[in-house]
Amino acid sequence: MKYLIKHDREACIGCGACVAVCPDNWKMNGDKPDPVKTEVDEIGCTKQAAEQCPVDAIKIEEKNE
Ligand code: SF4
Repeated sequence: MKYLIKHDREACIGCGACVAVCPDNWKMNGDKPDPVKTEVDEIGCTKQAAEQCPVDAIKIEEKNE
């Protein structure tokens, strides 16, 4: 199973919670973060990042292969 990680930069308020909880895959890029990888085999800490995001700007989708 692969997962797609989607970040809604419009909705994002740049609070940095995702970077704090998941520095492995979230890095600040200007005033808002971007995911380092948008397609992964293991969702890892991005799951926690999505749960912590106050505006629900991080979406995780299963990729059908
Ligand atoms: S936790 Fe959500 S709102 Fe905060 S910086 Fe990350 S994506 Fe943006």
